[in-house]
Amino acid sequence: MSFDLNSLLRPHIAKLQPYTSARDEYTGKEGVFLDANENPFGSITEQDFNRYPDPYQSALKEEIAKIKGVRPSQIFLGNGSDEAIDLLYRAFCNPGKDNVILLPPTYGMYEVSANINDVEIRKVALTPDFQLQPDQILAAADANSKILFICSPNNPSANKVKREDILFLLENFKGLLVVDEAYIDFSDEPSFTTELDRFPNLLVMQTFSKAWGLASLRLGMAFASEELIRILNKIKPPYNISGLTQDTVLAAIKDKAKVDRMIQDILAEREFLKGELEKLPFVQRIHPSHANFLLVQIPNANQVYDDLIEEKVIVRNRAKVLLCADCLRITVGTREENEALLKALSKVVK
Ligand code: PMP
Repeated sequence: MSFDLNSLLRPHIAKLQPYTSARDEYTGKEGVFLDANENPFGSITEQDFNRYPDPYQSALKEEIAKIKGVRPSQIFLGNGSDEAIDLLYRAFCNPGKDNVILLPPTYGMYEVSANINDVEIRKVALTPDFQLQPDQILAAADANSKILFICSPNNPSANKVKREDILFLLENFKGLLVVDEAYIDFSDEPSFTTELDRFPNLLVMQTFSKAWGLASLRLGMAFASEELIRILNKIKPPYNISGLTQDTVLAAIKDKAKVDRMIQDILAEREFLKGELEKLPFVQRIHPSHANFLLVQIPNANQVYDDLIEEKVIVRNRAKVLLCADCLRITVGTREENEALLKALSKVVK
């Protein structure tokens, strides 16, 4: 496929001179560092944080590359996936001119971030069973359609999107195609990272916020061609990932077996919760889930949502979202949390 990333890029970003520090020029670990106006005496905390962190997170990317089967140069790390979403708009979408294609119902930040960046949104709804409408997507696109976001497994519907539809769009959509795999660890679907070398217009997002249990650290990953990763690195804030986050994840990543165990526990709880919800006579529908949550249809979902809050059980009300009428999105919790939800549901729904 012929694909010219530079022709999609905003011209001023193509010309941009990025911020550089003395440590881009001197990468040695030993030395007298009087270049960055840091405090030479240490920190007020027990652990020292007085030195700026590695702006390109090289050690961490080496380890991530090994577990994800990509090259370190194909990885961008952001302050959550949300940072990568914002940077993509800023790199490729001229405000007031270019547009993005979104496929509702889907993750809300694609739309919010487009609005922050004054980027036109073109929406092509998913089908009632939350699959893509590839021909309508292509019909909605024009030369200014710079990005298409596909979320799989999708939030809030929890299903995986048909692989052949994504491949068809990778072959036919002229802009960048982002596959957001925030929930991929809970699915039997292989990641699209295996397709990176075939499709220069593909960017795959994943996150440490879900299966890895590190939402508070804010670490999102984007995988793409080296050329595209270079662009994101050029425009990101220089020290976007804290040293604490880099060091903590670097240590944690060695224990991938623990993550795999947690994923198995969550999947087992998902089955338990689904089975128990199915027994409740008022539950109308539980959508098939490839994620760590269930989309559940219940009569009077708005009222049930409010009543659950009274019981101090907080779920996500999706009742007003397209194709999700009367639906609540329920995160899979621990056994105790799931039982608390089930008890509260049985109490508030008469
Ligand atoms: N993508 C999807 C589909 C999500 O549901 C979320 C968070 N709810 C994110 C991305 C954001 O992840 P992060 O914490 O890495 O910003």
